[in-house]
Amino acid sequence: MLSVFICLLTLSLRIDARATETSLEQKQCKYTPDSPEWPTASEWANFNETLGGRLLRPSAPAAPCHPSNPLFDAQDCKYITDRWTNSQWHSDNPTSSLWQNWNGYSCLPDAKFECTTDGFPVFVVNATKPEHVKHAVDFARTKNIRLNIKSTGHDFLGRSVQPKSLSIWTHYMRDLEFHEDYSPRGCGLSIPGPAISAGSGAQMRELYRFGADRKVMVVGGSSQTVSIGGYLSFGGHSTLSPAYGMGTDQVIEIELVKANGEIVIANECTNTDLFWAMRGGGEGSTFGVVLKFVIHVIPAVPIASWSGSIVGNSSSDANWDAVAHIHARWAQVLSPLGASGYMIGTPYLLGPKNAPSLSITLPNVANGTLQKVFQPIINEVANITGGRTIVKGSFRYSDSWEKTVGLSNSSTDSRGFPGAGGTKLITSWLWDAESVSSPNLKQVLMNSIDNDTLLFQDFTAGPGTHNPPFMRGEGNAVNPAWRSAFVRPAAEMQWTGLNLEKLAERKSTLQTFHTAMKSLAPNLGSYGNEADAFDLQAEHNFFGIHYARLSLIKEKHDPTGVFYCVNCVNSFKWVDRDGQLCLRSAVGTAVTNVTAPISI
Ligand SMILES: Cc1cc2nc3c(=O)[nH]c(=O)nc-3n(C[C@H](O)[C@H](O)[C@H](O)COP(=O)(O)OP(=O)(O)OC[C@H]3O[C@@H](n4cnc5c(N)ncnc54)[C@H](O)[C@@H]3O)c2cc1C
Repeated sequence: MLSVFICLLTLSLRIDARATETSLEQKQCKYTPDSPEWPTASEWANFNETLGGRLLRPSAPAAPCHPSNPLFDAQDCKYITDRWTNSQWHSDNPTSSLWQNWNGYSCLPDAKFECTTDGFPVFVVNATKPEHVKHAVDFARTKNIRLNIKSTGHDFLGRSVQPKSLSIWTHYMRDLEFHEDYSPRGCGLSIPGPAISAGSGAQMRELYRFGADRKVMVVGGSSQTVSIGGYLSFGGHSTLSPAYGMGTDQVIEIELVKANGEIVIANECTNTDLFWAMRGGGEGSTFGVVLKFVIHVIPAVPIASWSGSIVGNSSSDANWDAVAHIHARWAQVLSPLGASGYMIGTPYLLGPKNAPSLSITLPNVANGTLQKVFQPIINEVANITGGRTIVKGSFRYSDSWEKTVGLSNSSTDSRGFPGAGGTKLITSWLWDAESVSSPNLKQVLMNSIDNDTLLFQDFTAGPGTHNPPFMRGEGNAVNPAWRSAFVRPAAEMQWTGLNLEKLAERKSTLQTFHTAMKSLAPNLGSYGNEADAFDLQAEHNFFGIHYARLSLIKEKHDPTGVFYCVNCVNSFKWVDRDGQLCLRSAVGTAVTNVTAPISI
């Protein structure tokens, strides 16, 4: 009798232990469609009703190209294939991302590859009102579901395409409103000068158009399809930044939905910790869902510009002398005036067809000023290289901001940004004055790319980013490296199709480029929006000394991790196991794409 009792007791203890194990696992991992706790069809239906019918269950973006898919349709497939490299098409799709490596190549338009929805969010809230976002955050939190936020899908680290998740699509939250001056809510003060309230899904093109119509300039990104939701999260650098500061330095107020579902305002007198953190600390899926930003804008000024290219012979060493010289002179001459620029190309392949392009923008100067400072640099390059590599282009002067941002021809977006629709891998760093005057600069530049990689230099820092002329509150969380940087060097790799061997090989090569770039300024850091997704020291490199404070703010406002994104604040707590997010403490340290914790 006693033995039967002991046997039953042991059995019941085992069952209890298993139950405890299961509940521990379930609590510490987000539920996925495979979990028994995933909401039932009727719960999703009720949720959809709460949203007034705005819940989507999207098919994979290229499903019509796959004969085995019920949506197969040759005409639809042609339409999609024709647009596959177009950034706006991916922005307009509820789940698609520009770079297919971040959705695990789940569904390419090429029928020879498998098509599934595995790498994409499962359900999408097509949000147009604050309450849609609030309901989505509440649903994800209470049902313990992974939450994704997508605006345009441009993120270079794949942060807006999380698998097995409920996604909030902010693309249609794009209302714009102009203010002659602005009174931050609850502060009892008025900030003089023009400002724009913009829904977080607003894209650069519409902001520039809206601003140009009102004769104001917006500190925004070079791509006209990027939205402010993600752009402002890590700082946002701009053609105008060397003169006027980072995009996020212009932010006056943020309206957001917090992890607990509250809709709040953050500005210099309300929720000041969030106001500080969400300007540069990566609000993208970290602290809340931004509904609206109020940003300071700048009365339009004349713009001097130069655009052209670096012309030389293939494999000539002189090409690198020219490129290095331009870097050094940028920090000494151009940047201090507030000039910005971009250099894009592969100097290893320099030739008539592969000349790296170079462009310069200098706001608010008299006609002729840019010639005076840049023509001597052009001459110096010709002298240094003995004429083997030259800088060739033309000067322009315009009092129309609209012309300068090229609104009518929509820059690279309509031609397709390099790699859009394919694989994209990038790495970048930030260099200060010392870096670009280093005798190692030329060799480091040469070690930062190979002939299958684009050098993508953004000369978008200067006096305005070092000492922002406009910034509200007590500073912000922009990576301090920006406050002394002059250039953001980057190496970008891109190719089409699915080739996992190449992916592995190029990822490893990227690490050598990363090490080379970093060697010139090991203590600075990189720009979290355009950085190496596999950077194991992202806490330091993306956030610098701000990380510790950001981590506390994240813990205070989102203690259970409703919001998550790769290489964001406190993301090291989570492990991604085939799309299921689990607390690292619950499952050990098997890590994919998640930042390793480092002490700072
Ligand atoms: C072609 C191209 C050109 C670029 N040029 C520049 C440039 O000149 N300057 C520059 O600084 N950067 C530039 N970038 C980088 C750009 O800032 C980032 O890719 C940014 O993440 C894009 O934001 P998004 O909202 O458009 O994209 P998404 O991929 O939709 O979102 C990016 C991140 O922000 C989050 N997010 C988006 N909206 C919200 C919201 N409302 N609330 C909370 N989180 C949100 C997403 O969850 C994700 O984590 C460029 C990128 C590309 C692809």
